[in-house]
Amino acid sequence: MVINKKYGINPRLISLITAKDLSEIPGSPTSSMLPGLYGKIIARKMDKMPREVPKNVHSLICTRCNHISKYNLGLVAIDYDKLKNMGQDGPVDGETGPPSIIDCIQATGYFRCRKCNAAGCWKLPGKTELSLCLHSIAAAISDNEDGKELFSYGVLQLADGTRHRWATDVEEHYLNKLAEQPEDSFTWNRLGNSYLRGGRPDLAAVAFEQSLKIDPAQFESLYSLGKILCEAGELEAGAKYLRQALIHARRYERMKAEEMRDMITSALMFLLEICNDIEEFLNVLPKEQEVLPGETLDGSWATGFMDLTIYPDDYKSFYPLAEVYMGKRRNELADKTLCISTSEGGQPSFSPEVRREDKSGKRNKKRKK
Ligand SMILES: [Zn+2]
Repeated sequence: MVINKKYGINPRLISLITAKDLSEIPGSPTSSMLPGLYGKIIARKMDKMPREVPKNVHSLICTRCNHISKYNLGLVAIDYDKLKNMGQDGPVDGETGPPSIIDCIQATGYFRCRKCNAAGCWKLPGKTELSLCLHSIAAAISDNEDGKELFSYGVLQLADGTRHRWATDVEEHYLNKLAEQPEDSFTWNRLGNSYLRGGRPDLAAVAFEQSLKIDPAQFESLYSLGKILCEAGELEAGAKYLRQALIHARRYERMKAEEMRDMITSALMFLLEICNDIEEFLNVLPKEQEVLPGETLDGSWATGFMDLTIYPDDYKSFYPLAEVYMGKRRNELADKTLCISTSEGGQPSFSPEVRREDKSGKRNKKRKK
C-alpha cells in the first residue's frame, strides 16, 4: 500500500494497543491497520499537513536489505565532541569500516526502510556522507536564528536523560516502557510527541488516542490530538478535544504553569480560528458549570468574562482568558495577567478588558454584552 511504503509503521505499536501477538501482525503494516479512530484518517492527509521541521531529505542505505532510498531526517543534531574526534579514536570494539558522520548525528525524523520496514540500521552512501559533512560545517558558521534550522550542534536528550540516534530508537524506548506499563497515559503522550516531532501526526494521533483511552482527562493529549485534527481539517472532532483540554487543564499537574498557559492559549486560538465569529467562539468555550461542576467560585469566572478583549494575532492577549482555565495553577505564574479583585460587596469580580479583532483584519472590534 502506497501510504505504508512511503512512511512505515512499527508492528509493535499495533501489537501493544490491540494486545495481539506480533506474529498476528504483518511485518509491514498498512495505515488501515492503525488502531483507534483518527490515525487512519490523518494518514490520508499527511502530505497536506503543516510540518514542525522543514523537509531534510537524504539518501540512506538499509543494512538489513541493502535498499537505498531517500528519507526525511528532520532536524539533525550534530555532536560536536564526537565530530571533533571522528577518526582519531581508532576503531571501537565491534565496529568496523571507516569513520562516518552517522556516528556523530541524531535525527528527529521518523522513517523506516521502504522495502523491509526495518528501522535504525542505516549506513550512508558516499554522497550523503559528503553532504552531511558540508551541512555540519555550514551549521557551525551560521547562527540559525530563525529557529527552523535543519542542522544544529548539540545533543538530543529525552526528559529521562536517555539519548537516541533515530526517532525509531526513541519509539522503541517508549514502547519498551509501555510494554511494562501499558496503562501509563503520560508515556503514551510522550510517545505521541516524539511521533509529532518526527513528522508523523498519524502515529501521534494513535498514541494520543491511546493515552486518552487510559486517562480521558490527560490535558496534553487532549490538546495535541485536537490540534492535529484541526490541522487535518477535521474541525468538529478537533474542537471537541480542544474544549476537553480547556475543561481539564486546571487539574493537570505535570506541566510548568507557563507552558500550560501557552498550551491553553494555543487551544483558544485554534478554537477562534475554527469559529466564524466572536459570538460563536464564546459559545464554544466551556462554561463554568462544565469546568467547575459543584465547585465554589474562586473569582476568575465572574462578571467580566464577556468583556474580554482579544487580538487574534497577539497570543498574549489570550492570556487572561487562558488563566481563567488554569484555575488555581495560575498562582504559579510569575507574570499573571488576570487580575481578580474583590469588590466592595465582597463579591469577587473579574476585571481584565478583553477585545477582539475579526478575521477580515479589522482591529479592535469590541464585544459587549
Ligand atoms: Zn531494508
